[in-house]
Amino acid sequence: MKKIFTSSLEIISRMIPLGLYPKILSRDVIDFFYHAVSDEPMPHVRHLYPVVPVDDFEAALIYLKENYTFINYERLHAHIFCGAPLPPKAVHLSFDDGYAECFSVVRPLLLRHQIPCTFFLTTSLIDNPILFYRNKQSLCIESLKKSTFNFQPLAFDDLPGNPALDRKESFISWLKDLRLPDESLIDQICEKLEVDGQAFLTENQPYLIRAQIRQMHAEGFTIGAHTITHRKLIDLTPTEIEAEIADSCRSVMNITGQNIVSFSFPHSAFGLDRSLLSAIRDRHPFIGLLFDTKGIRKDVDFIQNRIWAEKLPPTGWGLSKILLNAYQEAWVDEMMALGRKLRVK
Ligand SMILES: [Zn+2]
Repeated sequence: MKKIFTSSLEIISRMIPLGLYPKILSRDVIDFFYHAVSDEPMPHVRHLYPVVPVDDFEAALIYLKENYTFINYERLHAHIFCGAPLPPKAVHLSFDDGYAECFSVVRPLLLRHQIPCTFFLTTSLIDNPILFYRNKQSLCIESLKKSTFNFQPLAFDDLPGNPALDRKESFISWLKDLRLPDESLIDQICEKLEVDGQAFLTENQPYLIRAQIRQMHAEGFTIGAHTITHRKLIDLTPTEIEAEIADSCRSVMNITGQNIVSFSFPHSAFGLDRSLLSAIRDRHPFIGLLFDTKGIRKDVDFIQNRIWAEKLPPTGWGLSKILLNAYQEAWVDEMMALGRKLRVK
């Protein structure tokens, strides 16, 4: 019954045109976020999420500029916490993870178009001391996907948690699911595939450095935190969650001198206790808004959701399609919540 109700709502949601949605689901601001923009292949990233070509990103910026009004983090913060008015059709842009291309590729485009942006950084990666385990995974997948690579399942037979997978595709999806606690296993796979993470790190310096972060802040961009280690917070104890949020925000504060540092959740805030997050913010008043990845869904007042802009080709058409999907998902969710409320009564 619930399934029929949900799929009926999904069908109805697809009949509502984009132009009508803002009238039935009013939002003061829409948020979009990206990770990487470059015309270079970025093998350490491209198997995690799409790397957006420069022209496509610029087309997306122009589309947003023509149809919305960009606001910076400060205006959003003042609106949420002090009720300051926003322009109609406000949009806020952000980037996660802190790749060097945020400085070399994204920043010049944003400056040219005078568009504000917030960059959320994984603070243990600042200045390139280590290679992020997710980037190691992507480099391994790059190596596995090379047409010349002869996949021999037996070569991986001795790995702990023996994947026992006989197809390259299954091995790749198993590898993709490994997380930070499995890093020594990822390192063993790197070794077997002759992926030299240290050499990649030294040669490519893939993350932002302090001087660039300070320059971006001086140029008017907002710098936020994205945890210290990019672990999924739901897997951690409350003390560890607090340290990941507060300590990463404090690190950014020390680099930029900002009084308030906003934060974005790696992966998502799904399942995290909102009262715990509220208590963490109370204990560390320098923590600003928290940003999640659930499109335009509403959450508690201190959590702002964002639309993942890389999901489809990020051309002008692509972004409006992504926005339409976000409205559809949020509308179905709200109708489901309404249905539950009515049933309880
Ligand atoms: Zn991230």
